[in-house]
Amino acid sequence: MTAVWQCQGVTSTSTAGAVRQGSLRELNLAVVLRRIAAADRPPSRAEIATATGLTRATVSAVVDDLIAGRLVAEADPAPRTGAGRPARGLVLAADGPAGLGLELNVDYLAACVVDLTGTVRHHLVRRADLRPVSPADALARLAALAAEARAAAVRDGLTLAGAALAVPGLVGEGGRVRLAPNLGWRDVDVPGLLAGRPLVEPVAGIPPLLVENEANLAALGELHAGPPGPASFLHVSGEIGIGAGIVLDGALYRGARGWSGEIGHIPVDPRGRPCRCGGQGCLERYAGQEAILAAAGLAGADLPADTAAARLADLAGAGDPATLAALADAGTALGVAVAGVVNLLDLDTVVLGGGYAPLAPWLRPPVVAEVSRRVLTAAWSPVTIRPAALGAQSAAVGGAASVVRRIVDQPVGWLARSG
Ligand SMILES: [Zn+2]
Repeated sequence: MTAVWQCQGVTSTSTAGAVRQGSLRELNLAVVLRRIAAADRPPSRAEIATATGLTRATVSAVVDDLIAGRLVAEADPAPRTGAGRPARGLVLAADGPAGLGLELNVDYLAACVVDLTGTVRHHLVRRADLRPVSPADALARLAALAAEARAAAVRDGLTLAGAALAVPGLVGEGGRVRLAPNLGWRDVDVPGLLAGRPLVEPVAGIPPLLVENEANLAALGELHAGPPGPASFLHVSGEIGIGAGIVLDGALYRGARGWSGEIGHIPVDPRGRPCRCGGQGCLERYAGQEAILAAAGLAGADLPADTAAARLADLAGAGDPATLAALADAGTALGVAVAGVVNLLDLDTVVLGGGYAPLAPWLRPPVVAEVSRRVLTAAWSPVTIRPAALGAQSAAVGGAASVVRRIVDQPVGWLARSG
């Protein structure tokens, strides 16, 4: 039992007898489930006991609970290599709880279902210009798409245990969107407008709807649903606005009020172009999607935001000089801002996500050049600049993955629900 506390990194002088049975069970469930989730191959009960310091009897009892609750399944047995029955490895269950990720953006809606193994089971996208639509109507359309995703999940035998909604704006207390300039939203009570439209099954300890900035959820997607990578990185999403998600030691850094990551309004030229934020020379005015399109001669082309990046990539791939020059200038401005963030936070990886992901072949060289020139430590410790593994619309995937992560961290609420 002491080992459990050590495993949690908690220093406690409590005697085992002082620990409530309920909390000890909760702790053991979480420790064993996290061990299975983090393993690079399905571990046996004996291997989990060795790794956690729990007794084999405790591990077996906990694993039985997790299997009964559809959180864990036994993997197919390994081939026999000698005498005796091979131990069966344990994996996260693919037919239990799942997370619902939603995204409401300027010109599309998305709903995504991710199961406990991190697999994207459904990803629905609807194009719609939401700028002329009222917040209530936009959220009603989102709820309809969420219902479609939920029906698809139920047909797979999955239960949606929580939802996270990505919005392109500043999110305040209680999921209220304080400001989403590109949608024209100010002080919108998102959970209030969605009340009466339940999106998921209620599960203790899992918020039924978490509203979060899109760049933050995209960063969580890279952390939880992408390939294993560093525990600390900057994820920059380039859309009409530019947002950044800051991940430090495996957790999102949200700032004092949840508003960190507004990299689009870092000045790259203090006397430069006026910005709608009231400042001058903000990064967004040089490396935002509208600025790149204008520089490439595509201003007013009326491209949906999620196809603009693909169009720019096509033109750049074909060697269009104006597009190549536009991307080079955008990459230089982006590199200046990113270098400042890296100098401040000592990060070794920067991920180009959202609309920047398909443009990474052209944006990356000037970003690397500026970071190499401006980051003090780059000479002996180069900074990795790479495209996001999840590509565009990663915010919905990240939202769903963050729900799944919460279930793995706190399985007891789900188990209480499933009896
Ligand atoms: Zn600005």
